[in-house]
Amino acid sequence: MVKIRIRGLEFSYNSIPALKDVTIDIHESEIVAIVGPNGSGKSTLLKCIDRILKPQKGGILINGKDVKDFSQIEIARTVGYVPQSVKQFFPATVFEVVLMGRRPYLGWRCSKRDIEKVFEVLKILNIENIAMRDFNELSGGQQQKVLIARALVQEPEILLLDEPTANLDIKHQLEVMEIVKRIVRMNGITAIIAIHDLNLASKYADRIVMMKDGKVFAIGTPEEVLTSANIESVYDVKVKIIRFNGKLYVIPLTLNQSSD
Ligand code: ADP
Ligand code: MG
Repeated sequence: MVKIRIRGLEFSYNSIPALKDVTIDIHESEIVAIVGPNGSGKSTLLKCIDRILKPQKGGILINGKDVKDFSQIEIARTVGYVPQSVKQFFPATVFEVVLMGRRPYLGWRCSKRDIEKVFEVLKILNIENIAMRDFNELSGGQQQKVLIARALVQEPEILLLDEPTANLDIKHQLEVMEIVKRIVRMNGITAIIAIHDLNLASKYADRIVMMKDGKVFAIGTPEEVLTSANIESVYDVKVKIIRFNGKLYVIPLTLNQSSD
């Protein structure tokens, strides 16, 4: 089933186009990686799906309904968005930051259910032990998990992650991706992950969308998208693709000498 239907999407910042005629179907319960060089439009695309940005042209349907017609609370209950980073929160504990994610469900006060949900998610992410720590004092990896927890307590059908592994060491990169995969599979969530690391995209994504200059350059399985020809065209580097344990790995070789 198509979960998110993106049709002819155009978005410009002050009339400078960032997304050009983007058309993508994303299916229920799949993990889609969005790759592409800096400035290719990955973050802008995620923000349009979460309705943080309003496209000038084209449309996005979630469950067959135009996102323009969703109420604020409906969007929040449907889509969980994990930004690339949050520079500095006002002083708040991990518990408080995650509880903020329950906002679409909160009445005048938070219920037992809200608190239970927060602890349930902290437990899944294995960060219960830091519930009372100040968010601002945590390591990058811990902060990333807290932001994922904040999105998960929304109980979203769709999870959008903007470079969740940037600034993490390889252990924490794998840990975060494993957690995302487990939760997505467990709850039948659809996940869209903007990510630079082509090897992580290859390892975890069912399909990859490769962006270039605000357009979809290629879309398909890792096998279909991660070819040396595609990567050379989009990134201007020569790479070797190898297969290991059924997955493709991209080894960067040289800058493309023909480029200027
Ligand atoms: P990516 O996430 O792939 O690096 P972005 O979606 O952030 O790409 O950016 C796409 C294009 O839009 C880039 O050219 C970028 O400079 C521009 N852009 C992004 N955010 C803004 C903004 N707030 N104001 C103006 N231009 C922006
Ligand atoms: Mg970005």
